[in-house]
Amino acid sequence: MLDLVLLEAHAAELRSLLATPDGAEAAAYLLLGRAEIGSDPWSGRRRHRMVSHRAVPVPEEDKVSASGLHVTWSTRSFVRLLKAAEEQGLTLAIVHTHPGSHAFFSDQDDANERDLLRIVGNRSGAGHGFASVVLGGDGSVCARRWTAPATAEPCERVAVVGRGIRLHGLAGGDGDPLLDRQARLFGPTFNGLVRALKVGVVGCGGTGSPTALLLARLGIGHVLLVDDDVVELTNLNRVHGSRRTDVEGRVPKVEVLRREIEAAGLGVEVTTFKGWVGDAAARDALRSCDVVFGCTDDHDGRLFLNRLAYFYGIPVIDMGLRIMPARDGRPYEMAGRVTLAGPGAPCLMCRGLVDPRRAMEEALRRTDPAAYEARKAEAYVLGGGDPAPAVVTFTTETACMAVNELLQALTGFRGDGGMRTGRQRRFDAVEDRATTCTPRAGCEVCAGTGLWGRGDVLPFLYRAG
Ligand SMILES: [Zn+2]
Ligand SMILES: [Zn+2]
Repeated sequence: MLDLVLLEAHAAELRSLLATPDGAEAAAYLLLGRAEIGSDPWSGRRRHRMVSHRAVPVPEEDKVSASGLHVTWSTRSFVRLLKAAEEQGLTLAIVHTHPGSHAFFSDQDDANERDLLRIVGNRSGAGHGFASVVLGGDGSVCARRWTAPATAEPCERVAVVGRGIRLHGLAGGDGDPLLDRQARLFGPTFNGLVRALKVGVVGCGGTGSPTALLLARLGIGHVLLVDDDVVELTNLNRVHGSRRTDVEGRVPKVEVLRREIEAAGLGVEVTTFKGWVGDAAARDALRSCDVVFGCTDDHDGRLFLNRLAYFYGIPVIDMGLRIMPARDGRPYEMAGRVTLAGPGAPCLMCRGLVDPRRAMEEALRRTDPAAYEARKAEAYVLGGGDPAPAVVTFTTETACMAVNELLQALTGFRGDGGMRTGRQRRFDAVEDRATTCTPRAGCEVCAGTGLWGRGDVLPFLYRAG
């Protein structure tokens, strides 16, 4: 299986690079990162995902001719970029427009690309290849990958991802009467879209449990649940679906939610990972997702998701609750927050939502519990302190805010512009506002674009340890 994630920033760059005043076709290049997924957790099949990393114009001197029906350019820049791509573990893609039509591959495209494949085969040998992307005049996109000596594999879909999420190449709408009422609002193609989506939920506690159950009710076709914990007595006040018998049975939170979703019979395929989100065994599942909800208060986990979002073009909709003693007469200040991380949005580090010291301590506790306890005894680590307060109505409302951001990304029900990068709702003050931040100068994931769509690298996400 093959698919392409095209970052909105690159899609916009290509559209402006390729706009021609006379309606002629035009061409450019894309360098693509790769995600080699050994086993997609829902299908069990191998998946190769390509993610846009950088757009590159065709040099003026290489342009030969173009009309409304063709575009021709010299292969000099192709050969040069092919070499650069291979050295960096990237895939080179040619991109061209069909200004007067829907995106498709023409007979002429087939012939041209077979010629390019011969060049690749001669230079690099069998097993090497390149990709091809067509942008239609109506906004549609299609893509495929050629591998020497002879095969072209179509992308089953192209996701254009940023503050919005658009899937190209889906089969027609889903006429399932089970989801009829929402199709009446969002239109006949909405249910096919949610059925095709793969959504991760990291953390299955106070905010993660309502998030997972809301996604299931929306008919999201594929849900991944990630959490390391079992249900404890103090979770019963807010973890949806949990029962007293789960406490006695030490049932993992991911299994509680799987049981509840499957029992509802909504046609949702659930897959679970019981463990820490950054564990190598979770990588195939996470890299298969289209979007991930961050519902954890684990700082190291949030740091990990933060990088994943930019390297793979997988938007992370992170959420949290802040309850603290207030000033001005109210006993508490209570706020729910939803923060988008991913290419085009400031990252969670720049937002001040990750405490690097706590992230380091959590990593130590996970990898060397004895050393962690020793340092805790000597008061060198902050430790957990008292458990944070938590009330089900506030955790659940925060989850609703977060899932509504996904709906906004899919449908634009609040208007254009996609998801807000930050929202905060004050429960004590009845106040809802957008929050923004400027990336820290030099932030490697969000201030520059160098790591966007970089895909697989060693070590994973360039993270030590
Ligand atoms: Zn063409
Ligand atoms: Zn940043």
